Amino acid sequence: MLNTNLRFSFENFVVGSSNQFAHAASLAVANQPGNSYNPLFIYGGVGLGKTHLLHAIAAQVSQRTPGLIVEYLSAETFINDLIHAIQYEKMRDFQKKYRSIDVLLVDDVQFMATQERTQEEFFHTFNALYDSQKQIVVTSDKVPQDIPELEERLRSRFEWGLIADIQLPDMETRAAILNKKAKVEDMDLPSDVCHFLARHIQSNVRMLEGSLTRLKAFAEMSEEPISVDMCNNVLKDILSPKRSFISIEEVIRIVAKHHGLKAGELKSPKRAKPISRARQVAMYLCRELTSESFPEIGSRFGGRDHATVIHGVNKITALLEVDSDLQREIQQLRKSLMA
Ligand code: ADP
Ligand code: MG
Repeated sequence: MLNTNLRFSFENFVVGSSNQFAHAASLAVANQPGNSYNPLFIYGGVGLGKTHLLHAIAAQVSQRTPGLIVEYLSAETFINDLIHAIQYEKMRDFQKKYRSIDVLLVDDVQFMATQERTQEEFFHTFNALYDSQKQIVVTSDKVPQDIPELEERLRSRFEWGLIADIQLPDMETRAAILNKKAKVEDMDLPSDVCHFLARHIQSNVRMLEGSLTRLKAFAEMSEEPISVDMCNNVLKDILSPKRSFISIEEVIRIVAKHHGLKAGELKSPKRAKPISRARQVAMYLCRELTSESFPEIGSRFGGRDHATVIHGVNKITALLEVDSDLQREIQQLRKSLMA
């Protein structure tokens, strides 16, 4: 039975330099199964689109050539099917089923390694399909040679066809993916927010999607438009790895510059209004963007005590409720610090 997810189509797949090779190979296979690259081996890190491409191939083949038997399955499903067949003495049915497939798509094949009987059975399935020019596509998190405990004979077969990698998408591709998802979800995604997310969420596409889902839910519940401030608030945990790289010194430098002051003035005992206001803004941002404690922040502002920092942070927090100029200033500073 065909188990495809329509969301995972070629149409919904954003192509960039990180994935264009795997995408082109998948498309070629979908359009001419068995006649282009066989097997096609797609590898790449988690959340980068491997499963998406397999489903896209399945959907496209079924659409273009409805008569073909297309089977998408995870390596785990194959293993469980095999165990079931052995247990109930249905090996003949198992072999018949797998050997009548026209396009076999096996996801996360690395999970077959270490499973001796599975590898043997898959080896025979592979040979039967390959010999009758049926299409085989597998994905993995690594190249065949790096999958530990993968049998040599399977490894060499995986290397017979085409090996295509998917890398982390670059900044522009990440932004394009976000825009596409926002469109599909009918979300209003301002371009500054899109770029902010694309810049700060670099790990994988699944994290990008997750951030959009959370922003959407939060925007609906709070009835507020999506903004960079909301991202900082709602996505704290996702954005946090970057935060730890922001130092107190950096915050002081950027805030001082913004106010036309010297960093030393924010650390000095001077209490003139413009200086003390800038100092409080800097303390507020240190608290928000670094993982330093109140006493540590105080000590870096010329040896002030923690109560002074808490007072400064509270003061700015209260002002932010009513002062839109200050809101803009903080947002701008946050942007330059996180750039
Ligand atoms: P993998 O199988 O490599 O771990 P998935 O295929 O499950 O990753 O992708 C994770 C999520 O990211 C899915 O929702 C998928 O649709 C989406 N995704 C990944 N790459 C792209 C892309 N290039 N364009 C659009 N969506 C993508
Ligand atoms: Mg996957």
